[in-house]
Amino acid sequence: MKSATVLILFFIMLTQGYTQNFERMRENMVRQQIQNRGIDHQATLRAMRNVERHLFVPRGQQRRAYDDGPMPIGYGQTISQPYIVAYMTQLVNPGPKDRVLEIGAGSGYQAAVLAEIVDKVYTIEIIPELGNQAKQLLESLNYDNVEVITGDGYFGHEKQAPYDAIVVTAAAEYIPPPLIAQLRDGGKMVIPVGSPFLVQTLMLVEKHGDKITTTNLMPVRFVPFTRR
Ligand code: SAH
Repeated sequence: MKSATVLILFFIMLTQGYTQNFERMRENMVRQQIQNRGIDHQATLRAMRNVERHLFVPRGQQRRAYDDGPMPIGYGQTISQPYIVAYMTQLVNPGPKDRVLEIGAGSGYQAAVLAEIVDKVYTIEIIPELGNQAKQLLESLNYDNVEVITGDGYFGHEKQAPYDAIVVTAAAEYIPPPLIAQLRDGGKMVIPVGSPFLVQTLMLVEKHGDKITTTNLMPVRFVPFTRR
């Protein structure tokens, strides 16, 4: 065999080993961090198995992408811990016909997880650079049912309202009224509420006609919900 051929073969073996490794890490992540902690919504588990989380973190940190914690994604922002992504996804009980709004696109990971399950995802990001990155990545991965919008998510996205579910991934001091208004009757919203950099509470917001109910779920720590 020519040395060039040997080199190419070696390279193929190397890259294959690499992707198989990520697959194994992802499977372990789903079993140990997600299923073992009680997530049993089948579509959520399938989505967590399908989305290649390592593609959503900075290149030099891909090896840590399946670790049990949040990770920096640049611009002072973070991608949430895998368990939290799964927990928030299961909580809004997404179905195949749903239209979902996310506030805080960040890396685009949570949007990709939702896009595996629902019909259409609108995700808003306030930092234009992050929004553009997420948009390009999601496009390159053929998530053509996600629309990334740059702007202040406080106002939601009136144009496509109402939403079956709203997932907020930055901590707000209070629940933005426009988001409640854009939730469908019977819809669910999950949002971390509390002061920036302190412990916040993850809340489930449900809308039944004029009646809004809120349930406190667990203490969490998210990056702050900022305003323009
Ligand atoms: N869902 C993301 C998590 C990103 S962290 C992921 O899966 O990677 C939260 C994101 O919310 C940050 O990117 C931050 O810039 C963004 N954000 C904060 N305030 C916002 C606002 N008012 N409107 C839209 N995005 C906001």
